[in-house]
Amino acid sequence: MNLASWVERNGKRFGDEPALADGTRVHASWAQFAARTAAAAAGLSERLGLRPGDRVGIVMGNRPEYLEALWAVWHAGLVAVPVNARLHREEIAYVLEHSGTSVVLTDHEHAVDVTPLVAALERLTAAVLLPGPEWDRLTGSGPADLVDRAPDDAAWLFYTSGTTGRPKGATLTHRNLLMMSLSYFADIDPITPQDCVLHAAPLSHGAGLYGLPHVARGAVSVFPTSGGLDGTQLTTLLQRWPGMSLFAAPVMVKRLAADPALAGADLSPLKTVIYGGAPMYLADLEAALDVFGPRLAQIYGQGETPMTITALSKADHADREHPRWRDRMASVGFPRTDVEVRVVDEEGRELPAGELGEVVVRGEVVMAGYWEQPDASRQTLRDGWLHTGDVGSFDDDGYLTLRDRSKDLIISGGMNIYPREVEEALLSHPAVQAVAVVGRPDREWGEAVVAFVVAASGALPAVEDLDRTCLDRIARFKRPKEYRFVDRLPTNAYGKVLKRELRQQLQDGGAP
Ligand code: AMP
Repeated sequence: MNLASWVERNGKRFGDEPALADGTRVHASWAQFAARTAAAAAGLSERLGLRPGDRVGIVMGNRPEYLEALWAVWHAGLVAVPVNARLHREEIAYVLEHSGTSVVLTDHEHAVDVTPLVAALERLTAAVLLPGPEWDRLTGSGPADLVDRAPDDAAWLFYTSGTTGRPKGATLTHRNLLMMSLSYFADIDPITPQDCVLHAAPLSHGAGLYGLPHVARGAVSVFPTSGGLDGTQLTTLLQRWPGMSLFAAPVMVKRLAADPALAGADLSPLKTVIYGGAPMYLADLEAALDVFGPRLAQIYGQGETPMTITALSKADHADREHPRWRDRMASVGFPRTDVEVRVVDEEGRELPAGELGEVVVRGEVVMAGYWEQPDASRQTLRDGWLHTGDVGSFDDDGYLTLRDRSKDLIISGGMNIYPREVEEALLSHPAVQAVAVVGRPDREWGEAVVAFVVAASGALPAVEDLDRTCLDRIARFKRPKEYRFVDRLPTNAYGKVLKRELRQQLQDGGAP
């Protein structure tokens, strides 16, 4: 099945109902959306000579045309390569080259970086600018018939955000994305055509993936008019588009929760805020729950098993009377309906509840492999299981708690220290706004714990106070040997803290 059949059939069924919205304004009805994607598909294959299976890059900010481009690519049986538009031009070039992309769709904002690549990259033959006359010409073609796709045909090359090394392209098939969408209905929320999804985070990542179940069910895809979303805009959009869900990284949920425009606002039209992609600390989650109420759901996934390993449901968040509520809120939840999840030791043997090991996943949602990287694929997909590189443990109720990525583990004096625990402890200090803990090579201990601390506005916390906060919560050996106060933490384009940069700073001995 080709995923693009959803748009085609919704075009018939929902006709004049809104499909895409630019702020409060309707950008396209379902009939228009379906017509444009079918026409652009004809343009891509007939005018640009693309054949099913060819790769088409998308380097654009979030805008309604992004979805027209994405679904046109699928309609024509092509493979989408959505590239994080905030990447450096060299990184964009790497992804387009590695994926063997032939045509790239881009917007005015990114054209300066992207258009010159047509001359620089051997396989890249054209860059199409949208919106504008070029896109109008393409969408003025056709319409093309929907190209048949087999379940194992590639649909999306998901280049991982690269917190570790060069990005790799997880090959997501039509079957993977179908499973991801169905399990959204099973574990997160049912969706109706009266609902909508607000695209507040980059479409090349989680927000784009979670757009799929909404398109499948005929819900409206809404784009904030400015790049970033703040509380004032959210309340305006909620009045216009009730039944709203949005996906956001924890850092954004935290920012929204602190936005004065949301204090006391009517949030009844808000259906669900899905957060994930990075740890959300308990103190931040509690603050967010105070603002959003039981509308929060957490997901844990990765590009290799798109957005689907475990989930902490809205019901879990709401169940505050549960004796283990705090433990659950610090967990990543319960395995999703469509996957098996295990915690295993180094030999791949399943570990019992309470023991830490690597999280592995098996199911129909797991990627086919890394694009043109057979060695990396073999290393990651072993005996039918995806090895996530994340370290965690199950509790007796079957909830999974992540301790860290295996590479982040600090070993000091022969003791394993999971940075997350130290970070949780430090964040409970009111003068700490953000923190990242890494290991520094140390002659005596092997590694020493170093905390990079961003102070909350106002006074810098005293080192003695931070030490006391740690000693009150975690074992003495986990306490940082050094604190470095910084204005901000280095993050990648998705807001994940780049710990390798912090490690590098320590190795170079340079000032942060
Ligand atoms: P990416 O493939 O770029 O989305 O990165 C996936 C990685 O982000 C996972 O392997 C985890 O290390 C981390 N991650 C994703 N979701 C969560 C979550 N809910 N809590 C903590 N870490 C997460």
